[in-house]
Amino acid sequence: MPTPARDELLVEVLACGVCRTDLHVSEGDLPVHREHVVPGHEVVGRVVAHGEDATTFRVGERVGAAWLRHTCGECAFCRRGDENLCPRSRYTGWDADGGYAQYTTVPAAYAYRLPTEIDSVALAPLLCAGIIGYRALRRASLPEGGRLGLYGFGGSAHLCAQVALAQGARVHVLTRGEAAQRLALQLGATSAREAYDTPPELLDSAILFAPVGDLVPVALRALDRGGVLAIAGIHLTDIPALNYERELFYEKQLRSVTSNTRQDGQEFLELAARHGVRATTHAYPLGAAQQALQDLKAGRFDGAAVLVNEDAAPGPGATGA
Ligand SMILES: [Zn+2]
Ligand SMILES: [Zn+2]
Repeated sequence: MPTPARDELLVEVLACGVCRTDLHVSEGDLPVHREHVVPGHEVVGRVVAHGEDATTFRVGERVGAAWLRHTCGECAFCRRGDENLCPRSRYTGWDADGGYAQYTTVPAAYAYRLPTEIDSVALAPLLCAGIIGYRALRRASLPEGGRLGLYGFGGSAHLCAQVALAQGARVHVLTRGEAAQRLALQLGATSAREAYDTPPELLDSAILFAPVGDLVPVALRALDRGGVLAIAGIHLTDIPALNYERELFYEKQLRSVTSNTRQDGQEFLELAARHGVRATTHAYPLGAAQQALQDLKAGRFDGAAVLVNEDAAPGPGATGA
C-alpha cells in the first residue's frame, strides 16, 4: 500500500489500460528511471485517501491518472503553455509506480475528473491512447471538414478517428490487417486500404501512428499542397531520405508529437463524453498483466487491452464501474 505525499491522492485502481509504452518500459527499450517500477499510466481509480494539500478531490470520487505526472511550472516551456516539453517532467509508470496494482498514487494537480457516462474499462484507454491521439490531431492542423489520413490503426488511431469524424472530417485509414480496416469502416472511415496504398483523394492532414519511418515519404506524397503530417509515436524507425520536390515542396509540413499537456487531456475527455467516443477493449484480470503485454506485442487483439482489478469493492464514486 503506497503512502500518498502531501500533494497526492491514494487511489484504488478499478481499471488500467495497457499501452505500448508499458512494453517499452518493462522490456528496457526506454532507460530505467526507477528500479522495478510498476507500469501503467491509463488508470481509472477511486480516491481512498489524500495528502493534506491534495484537497481538490473527495474520498470516493472516481479519478484518472495518466502519463504526465509532474512538470516544473517555471521553465520557458511551462510558462508559455507547452508543459509537454518541460525538461524536468516526470511520468506515471516510469518515474513513479503506476496502475498495474491494486493501489497507486497520483499528484492531485495531475489527476483528471472523469465523465460519469463512460464505464471504467472503456475509459482507461482514453487516458493515454485517446489523449495522445487528440494531441496528434491538433498537431496535424486539420481544417474544418478536412480530409484526414491515418497511417496505422491501433488503440490511439481508432479513438482519434472518432473525434475527427465527430468534427466533420473525412477519414481515410491506411493500415495493414483486414480486422483493423474493417473496424475503421465500421467507425465511419470513408476508405480503408493497405498502409503503402494511395488514399482515394489528396489529404489536408495525416497522422502517422505506425512506428515505421518508411511511411513518412509515403504519407508526405499523399498530402495536398500546404498539408501537414504529424508523427504520433514515441519511437520511429529511421526515416529514409526525402525528396524535396515530391515530399516537402508546396509548403508541406512534417511535425512530431511529444506527450501532452493537461489541457489536451481535459479537452479530449470533454469531447469523448460529448461525442460518445468509445475504446474497443479486451479485459484481463490484474494478475494477467504479463499476458496482456505479450498479446499486445504479438498483435493478438484490435483496440486496447485493459487490466481490471476484480478485488475493488463497489462503492461511492464507482458509478458505471
Ligand atoms: Zn517546466
Ligand atoms: Zn501510453
